Amino acid sequence: MSKGKVRLSLDFECGWGVAQGGAWRANQAAGIYRNLRPALRRFTSRLDELEISATWAVVAGMVTPPESRDITHLRGQFANDMATFLAEADRETVDGRDLLEMVISMRCKQSFGTHTFSHLLFSDPEQGPEVVLQDLMRASEVSKSLGLDFSRIVFPRNHAGHFSTLQAVGITHARMPAINGHNPIARPGRIRRMLGAAIRPPSQVCEIKDTSGVILHHATEFLNWGAKAGNFKRMLHWRRVKQALAAAATGQDVHFWMHPFNLAEGTGLDHAVDKLLLEIGALRDAGKIDVMGF
Ligand SMILES: [Zn+2]
Repeated sequence: MSKGKVRLSLDFECGWGVAQGGAWRANQAAGIYRNLRPALRRFTSRLDELEISATWAVVAGMVTPPESRDITHLRGQFANDMATFLAEADRETVDGRDLLEMVISMRCKQSFGTHTFSHLLFSDPEQGPEVVLQDLMRASEVSKSLGLDFSRIVFPRNHAGHFSTLQAVGITHARMPAINGHNPIARPGRIRRMLGAAIRPPSQVCEIKDTSGVILHHATEFLNWGAKAGNFKRMLHWRRVKQALAAAATGQDVHFWMHPFNLAEGTGLDHAVDKLLLEIGALRDAGKIDVMGF
């Protein structure tokens, strides 16, 4: 039997991921971005203690100094939402330089990728190929200036596309949703998503080379059960996570992801993830799995 793999990746974005549409206001008012600091400190300490390395897909705008948060390339409603976000959100909602510092200064070296400069959606018809290219070039500059790897991308909200543009800016690997999962752009209803979580088998990593040359890394399991999940949904969701971990222990390749701020939403996910990390560490120490990023 071949050794299984557990991969971990994080969408590292503070309020940038919900700047579009303005949901950052409610999160900020609930103290999520303030609580993110101690939550990330606990999470990174546990990763350090267990010597687990993950891939952090960074929104470049979050880790660049305020004077270089240039969003003049953006168009339409998204440009308006971003201008409001940058003008009105608190510093800790926008600026994640302290968060990145926490990750960079870990004893157990982490790997990095990009989550674009502005968290623009590649499916947004108002942002054409030129805007996507500009956004990626800005992100690439920020990564370079900080010495962070830029060869891997996590698409904002998993809306994949523009593969030849990715290839042109030096990206070799793109994290994709599970092949057997729901289409992230279609947004199925709540019941269908819950049913999917209950009956869909945990997905295995599958890498496919796109015609552009970019490797599409499919199959990712979202750790977060959602800010409003009741006990039943949590139970179903976590059963899936446990099934995926059990699959890894029998030789499969599985990939878990979440946003660091999910640990600060007060849903109990932080404790569940902490226990999961301990289980992952124990399986690794028993020689059953290797643990890595993507
Ligand atoms: Zn995101």
